[in-house]
Amino acid sequence: MLAAQLDETKFDVTIYESNSALGRKFLVAGDGGFNLTHSEELEKFISRYTPSEFFKSIIASFSNNDLREWLRKIGIETFVGSSKRVFPVEGIKPIDVLNAILDEFKRKNVVIKTNFKWKGFDDTEIKANITVFALGGSSWKVTGSDGAWTKHFSEKGIDIIPFQASNCAYEVKWKDEFISITEGRSLKNIYVKCDAKERKGELVITKFGLEGGAIYALSPEIRKHLNKEGFAKVYLDLKPSLTVEQIKDKFRARGNRTIKKLLIDRLNFDDTQIDLLKTLLSKEEFTNLEELAKKIKQLPITLASAAPIDEAISTVGGIALSEVDEHFQLKKLPNTYCIGEMLDWDAPTGGYLLQGCFSMGYCLAQHLNEI
Ligand SMILES: Cc1cc2nc3c(=O)[nH]c(=O)nc-3n(C[C@H](O)[C@H](O)[C@H](O)COP(=O)(O)OP(=O)(O)OC[C@H]3O[C@@H](n4cnc5c(N)ncnc54)[C@H](O)[C@@H]3O)c2cc1C
Repeated sequence: MLAAQLDETKFDVTIYESNSALGRKFLVAGDGGFNLTHSEELEKFISRYTPSEFFKSIIASFSNNDLREWLRKIGIETFVGSSKRVFPVEGIKPIDVLNAILDEFKRKNVVIKTNFKWKGFDDTEIKANITVFALGGSSWKVTGSDGAWTKHFSEKGIDIIPFQASNCAYEVKWKDEFISITEGRSLKNIYVKCDAKERKGELVITKFGLEGGAIYALSPEIRKHLNKEGFAKVYLDLKPSLTVEQIKDKFRARGNRTIKKLLIDRLNFDDTQIDLLKTLLSKEEFTNLEELAKKIKQLPITLASAAPIDEAISTVGGIALSEVDEHFQLKKLPNTYCIGEMLDWDAPTGGYLLQGCFSMGYCLAQHLNEI
């Protein structure tokens, strides 16, 4: 985005990339659902970032709507899905989006040097008045974002926060008899809560633990507990549409139904929800309808760890935000800027990560075009 927005009459732009082609992680991101951004209104959108204060003016300067408009101008039409996430319209593949951006580079005479690994500040091959680093975080190393750059910045006295996984699966020590029958099954339309933050969505039960949008979005809170206490507790609401009292009402006039039959008949529960309650609750809790109603609304699950960094969708850590000024310039290295996931920030998956990176690139280009 930076290269596409820089004034070509003012700058000769060269992109150096260690891979043989640009945008490998962009293409990986496109492999599942390709969320280019999210359609949420601005204030809520900005609140998704940690720290949101840092992103306030960045996202306001180049918003989700601005990104969609820019994509439209370069030939990429988007649509808002039922999840409010923004995708390219049917028929447009991730490679088409990448190629449309690369076409902008051609139009602007941007030079691309691939198979070029930057090896540190002593690298004499690159001669530039202004250097912008956008070397990425540290997950999915196969895409080139290997985080190996941190040592070069540390040597310059720049504060580097160790990388940690974000938007990742979390470990649950499931009982063997539970996971052998539920592995791969999903829990739909539930809420997951950690501390005061609650997110609606879907969770998938895996051998490792739990994954899915609802839990990814709680990564900052979960990580805080894992770092401090060595474990984190989240609470599931398996029936968001009803209160505890309404569930208790549904349990009245039980007749000779078993608890399982009661959950199926009155709450429309499926086997996965019932098996989950059974594995997480004691026999006393499962058979006491008052207690069961409460637990359906607030089912505690203990998370033991985060997935390995390389399997995470994104990482936090990297260059401390205190090291850059409001234009992403390193305070200790004038004319040197850092943008994207290599800075220490966090956002949920679902379009916020790419939007954060695009907006930073846009804002920096506006600033450089003006100086
Ligand atoms: C599986 C997966 C799915 C995702 N899905 C989404 C999604 O749907 N929506 C969303 O918003 N985000 C998604 N993301 C996150 C998003 O892709 C990243 O946040 C974003 O690509 C980060 O952009 P970046 O430019 O900061 O870094 P990157 O895209 O990681 O690019 C950094 C580049 O720097 C190069 N590089 C690194 N070191 C050197 C060096 N020393 N010399 C030269 N080049 C170097 C790398 O090869 C790489 O090409 C997903 C990520 C993953 C892994």
